[in-house]
Order: sequence, then C-alpha cells, then structure tokens
Amino acid sequence: MKRNSYEYLIVGAGSYGAIFAYEAAKRGKRSLLIEKREHIGGNMYTHTEHGITVHDFGDHIFHTDNKEIWDYIRKFAEFNGYQNQVVANYKGELYNLPFNMNTFYEMWGTKTPAEAKAKIEEQKKAALGNLNGRGPKNLEEQAISLIGTDIYEKLIKGYTEKQWGRKATELPAFIIKRLPVRFIFDNNYFNHRYQGIPVGGYTQIFDKLLDSPLIDVKTGEDFFAHKDEYLAKFPKVIYTGMIDQFFDYKYGELEYRSLRFETKKVDEENVQGNAVINYTDAETPFTRQMEWKHFDGLSDDGVSVITREYPQQWDRNKEAYYPVNDEKNTEIYRKYAREAHAAYPNVVFGGRLGQYRYYDMDQVMIAALNLVRREFDISKDFNFAHDEEH
Ligand SMILES: Cc1cc2nc3c(=O)[nH]c(=O)nc-3n(C[C@H](O)[C@H](O)[C@H](O)COP(=O)(O)OP(=O)(O)OC[C@H]3O[C@@H](n4cnc5c(N)ncnc54)[C@H](O)[C@@H]3O)c2cc1C
Repeated sequence: MKRNSYEYLIVGAGSYGAIFAYEAAKRGKRSLLIEKREHIGGNMYTHTEHGITVHDFGDHIFHTDNKEIWDYIRKFAEFNGYQNQVVANYKGELYNLPFNMNTFYEMWGTKTPAEAKAKIEEQKKAALGNLNGRGPKNLEEQAISLIGTDIYEKLIKGYTEKQWGRKATELPAFIIKRLPVRFIFDNNYFNHRYQGIPVGGYTQIFDKLLDSPLIDVKTGEDFFAHKDEYLAKFPKVIYTGMIDQFFDYKYGELEYRSLRFETKKVDEENVQGNAVINYTDAETPFTRQMEWKHFDGLSDDGVSVITREYPQQWDRNKEAYYPVNDEKNTEIYRKYAREAHAAYPNVVFGGRLGQYRYYDMDQVMIAALNLVRREFDISKDFNFAHDEEH
C-alpha cells in the first residue's frame, strides 16, 4: 500500500460509504473501500433464492419526500410501486396498521371518523383521569394517554416490550412522542410521497455504485486489524463503523438493540398473504414475520421464503442495529464526537454507526451527498435539500 496511491480510505460498504466512493470516483478521486463483512451493501444487502429477493438484515422499504434522492437512487435500479401495508396479529386477531379507520373498525366496529374519535377520546379521558393531573411518567402511561387502553394493550404493549427487552412501565415516556392516527381508511404505513423496492433487490445498486476503476473493494477486511497503518497511510478516511470502537470504548460502550433473523424456505405458494405481519402479543418471541415474495411479486412456483425477526440484547459479538439514543448514551456519544473533531480532522465519522443515530436509507444517502458537497465543489452538480430529517 503506497501512500497517496489512494485519496480516500472508506471503511464500510453500506450506503454512506458506497455513495461517497461513487461520487469521489466521478470526480477522478481514487478510493480503497474496506468492508468487514463478506459482501457489500451494508444492512441493505439482499440476495436471491428460489427466485425470491430476501433482505438479509430486515425488510427495507425505500420511502422519501425528497424528489432528488428518489431520482438519484432510481438511476441504479428500477423501483416497483410497493406500498408497505402491515397487518398486526394479536393472539390470532388481525388488525390493519398503522392506526386508521380500518383498525378502529376491527377493534370496535366504529364506522365513521366521529365514532372512532369518540371512542378514543373516551379511553384517553379515563387514562388521563388516572394520572390525576400529572404528566405520563413512562411509556405505558404516555401511550394510553395518546391512544387509549384497547389499542395500547393489543397493538403497542407486547410489541414494544419485545423490541426493547423491558416492561413498558420501565421505559421512558419520550420513546413515544406522538402516535400517528389516521381517521381515513388508509393502510399505507409511510406518509411519504415516493415509496418502493428495487426490483431484484438492493445489492445491484451497490454493484453499480462501486463498479469503477477508481474504486478498489476489499471485503472480509476489518479496519481494526490495521488501524494505525491505515490512519498513517491515507490522507483522508471516511469511517462508517462504530465510533466508540474507533476510540477503543474509552468513554464507555454505546448501547444498541440487536436482532436475530431466522429465514426458511417453505413449500407453499402463499403463507401469510402479506409482506409483513407484526406479532404484537408478548408471548410470541418474534416481532415480525416477512414473506419476501409479496414485496415484489417475484418467485419460483410453489415456494416461499419467510423470515422471523427476533429482537435481542446487543453485545460486542452481535450486530448493532438500533442506537439507544437516551440521555446516557447521547452524553457518551458527544464525548466521542468532540474527540473525533479535535484529534482526527482527517477522519469523517459518517453513517448510522459513525454518528450513532438511526438513519433511514434516504436520510443516510442525503447525509453522504452532503459530505460530497462539503468535500468537493459540487454546487453546480447537485441541488439537494440539506435536510437529513424527514
Ligand atoms: C432491521 C432494519 C430495517 C430497516 N428498514 C429500513 C427501511 O425499511 N427503510 C429505510 O429507509 N431504512 C431502513 N433501515 C435503515 C438502513 O438500513 C440504514 O439507513 C442504512 O443501512 C445505513 O447505511 P450506513 O452506510 O450508515 O450503514 P450500514 O448499512 O450498516 O453500513 C456500514 C458498513 O460498515 C461496515 N463496518 C463496520 N465496522 C467496520 C470495520 N471495523 N471494518 C470494516 N467495515 C466495517 C459494516 O459491516 C457495514 O457493512 C433499516 C435498518 C434496520 C436495522
């Protein structure tokens, strides 16, 4: 590895790293991209079996209001018009999500918005009465005061407790700031204007992003195997791994929730009749079951592939999925971020692990393009909204 043969070392072949590599190559800059997994794509990685596209790290639905990012991503794959419409299974009772007129009809038989609103108000009033004028002090009280007891008990409680591995009465109220409730018959999970799944999966997007003579990709390579060497030899590093690991956890470990996926092929044409079913009771150990063929309608005959998603406690041997952005972790993250800024001006900490925040795909791509904008003079090439929030 000769100094200066590459302008950039990029750590991580997820969307943040891959988009940066692609945009740098477009401007004649050479990158080495290393990825500790055996494949590119990060958590967006998909593979195909029995003609069915399986998302290896949980279902990924692209949804955004940002027209530029929607146009950008569709340069690399054809997207279908998939709309996420999730069904909840509570002990065998089925409900449409997100909470809308269909859910209320299934729950109470209410047929008009006025009837549904009256029912929710009645339950909220009873819940607020129990609080005797004080604010909700845990997630359970917060959820009941927003939506009432029935929906909380059947559709929120068990699911949330499984996700977090803690009782709802022990979880902070701020986790549920608001609960989207629709008084229309509309099961579309996301409110965004543009939504879809790339036909044939996400991995093709990464194949195209990284297909350049100016990008060398090395999978199965952990940055920490040669950290000092890498930092010494590369003028600039784009690091999308865990920020606390970069500093050898000196201010403490940042907490995550992890997941375990169980995937199997079944010799049935149609197992559950929907792409995603949430299991909202406390007893079923998994939170969701995906039947992949329903995302894009592609499959060999007579088979299906399903995946069950089990939340689990994170430790250093498990994949880190969801950051736990409570006060304690936010404070630890700030210490790392301050040190990163002061001591490593040539390292950019980016993406969901580098910045310890939950990013949807569109947001992480906008963040990567904002970095491109800072790094190169591209005002003439792009006009992206700077906003990484939805
Ligand atoms: C279960 C689940 C479902 C999701 N569903 C959706 C969805 O429906 N819609 C949506 O918009 N978003 C969804 N997301 C979010 C989406 O996955 C992220 O926005 C996106 O993957 C973030 O990209 P990234 O590049 O920051 O991180 P990643 O995709 O995680 O990429 C980081 C890469 O860095 C590599 N790496 C880490 N450390 C090292 C190291 N030391 N050396 C070398 N390589 C390293 C990792 O192996 C990984 O490949 C979901 C996320 C999860 C967890």
